[in-house]
Parts: sequence; structure tokens; C-alpha cells
Amino acid sequence: MIDGLMGVKSKNETVVFGCGDCGIIAEQAYGAQNKDQLAYLLICPRCAKILGEWTSTTARDTELREFAKTVKLRT
Ligand SMILES: [Zn+2]
Repeated sequence: MIDGLMGVKSKNETVVFGCGDCGIIAEQAYGAQNKDQLAYLLICPRCAKILGEWTSTTARDTELREFAKTVKLRT
């Protein structure tokens, strides 16, 4: 699940992800969805908005890879 994430192209042409509100690069975080399962999160370090949330690294990587192809880049 991606919500409010934007893309920024770094100097070496890599697309990195940040907060659509603040423009700050998102930080990876982990949350406990329940006792047995970790949730993988992308969170804005300034406004603490959850920009992405997944139940596995595979789901996260797949969605972010697709997102990077279509995201509107901030210039
Ligand atoms: Zn933010």
C-alpha cells in the first residue's frame, strides 16, 4: 500500500522516495502488525505520515519497483 509517496531522482539517476507533503526522503521503519508478523513501513521523518505499508519485503519491493516506473518525479 502506497499513500502520498513521491519520487525524487538522485544525482546518480536512482529514484528515491519521499513525503509528498514535506519533500523529505522517507525512512524505513518496522511495525508489529500482530505478534507474529512485522509490517514494513515507509515513514516521513518530519510529519510522521505513513507513506507505505507492506506485510513482506517482497510485496514492498515489488510495489516500489512498479511505483518507481510510473511516479511523477519532483524537480
Ligand atoms: Zn511529511
